[in-house]
Amino acid sequence: MQRLDHFMADALGQYYGAGDPFGVTGDFITAPEISQLFGEIIGIWAVQKWMRMGSPATFNLIELGPGRGTLMADLLRGTAHIPEFHAAMHVHLVEMSESLKERQQETLSPCSVQWHNHLSAIPNDKPSIIIANEFFDALPVRQFKYKRGEWQEHYIAGVQTVWKDVENPPLKATLPPACEGDMYEFSQEQKDYAELIARYNGAALIIDYGYERSAYGDTLQALYKHQYCAITDHVGEADLTTHVDFECLATFFKHTSTKTQRQFLKENGIDIRYQQLNNPNLDGGYLRLIAPDQMGDLFKVLEINL
Ligand code: SAH
Repeated sequence: MQRLDHFMADALGQYYGAGDPFGVTGDFITAPEISQLFGEIIGIWAVQKWMRMGSPATFNLIELGPGRGTLMADLLRGTAHIPEFHAAMHVHLVEMSESLKERQQETLSPCSVQWHNHLSAIPNDKPSIIIANEFFDALPVRQFKYKRGEWQEHYIAGVQTVWKDVENPPLKATLPPACEGDMYEFSQEQKDYAELIARYNGAALIIDYGYERSAYGDTLQALYKHQYCAITDHVGEADLTTHVDFECLATFFKHTSTKTQRQFLKENGIDIRYQQLNNPNLDGGYLRLIAPDQMGDLFKVLEINL
C-alpha cells in the first residue's frame, strides 16, 4: 500500500523519465507546443521585469520543468534584439528527466544553459527571473476526505483506492471549514518549491491549469494518449496531474497578482505580436491560447515580484 503522493512520484518519475510525452502524438499538448507566441510573450514579460530591476548586468533566467525546451527557445529568439538582456542572462533549467534534458539540449543548442535536478541547486544571490509552465500541476499531492467528523487519507493498494484514518492532516488555511464528504489536495513539493522561490530576488511566473479561489474537490486526473483513464491504469505511461490552487500558492509570497492566461497574454502584447507576424499558420494557436472556452480562462497566471 502506498500513500498517494508516493505513488504519484514513482509513476511520474517513470513517465517523464521515459521520454517525450508532448504534442499531437503524445498524451497532452502544452501552450509552448501550441504556438511560438506563448514563449515570445513571456520573453517580453521577462525583459520588462529585468528593466524594472534596473537592467542588472548579470541575472539568472530559470525555467522549472522545460519539457522540450520550446518555451525557452521562443523566449530567446523573441528577445534576441535586446543584446544587453542576452549578455546579462545565465540560463538555468530545472529538469529531473535525463531524456528530456537531452531533448532540451537539442532544442536550445548552441545556447549555453545549465541543468539542475532541483531549484535548490541554484544559488539565490543574483537577481533571478523564474518561469514555470505546467510544472506545479505535475508535482505529487496527498488527498484527504472528511468523513463523519474525521479526516481520511488516500492510499493506493494495487488498483484499489483505500481511505485510511489520519490524525493531523496538513492544514490548508485558505479553505473554509469542511462538510461531510469534502476532499482536498495538499502538495508538500508545491509548498517546498513555493518557499524556495520566495527566497530569490526578482520575479516569477507560474502558469497552470487551476482555480483562483481555494475550494474542496478532487482534481487528480490521468491522461493517456489524449484520453482520461483511471490513475492506476497505464502506471508510468499516463500523465498524472492536479489543478493548481492559486489562492493557496499565492500565500507563500508577498507581492502577487493572479489573472487568466488570456488576460496575461493580452496585457503583454499578444495581439500586436500576432498582427505583426501576419501569418495564417498562427491563427489556430493564437485562438487556442486565448479563447475563454479553450486555454484562455482555464489556465491561470501567478505573477510574483520577489
Ligand atoms: N513546461 C513544459 C513542460 C511541462 S510538463 C511545457 O509547457 O511544455 C512538466 C515538466 O516538468 C517536464 O519537463 C518534467 O520532466 C518536469 N518535471 C516534472 N516533475 C519534476 C520535478 N519534480 N523536478 C524537476 N522536473 C520535473
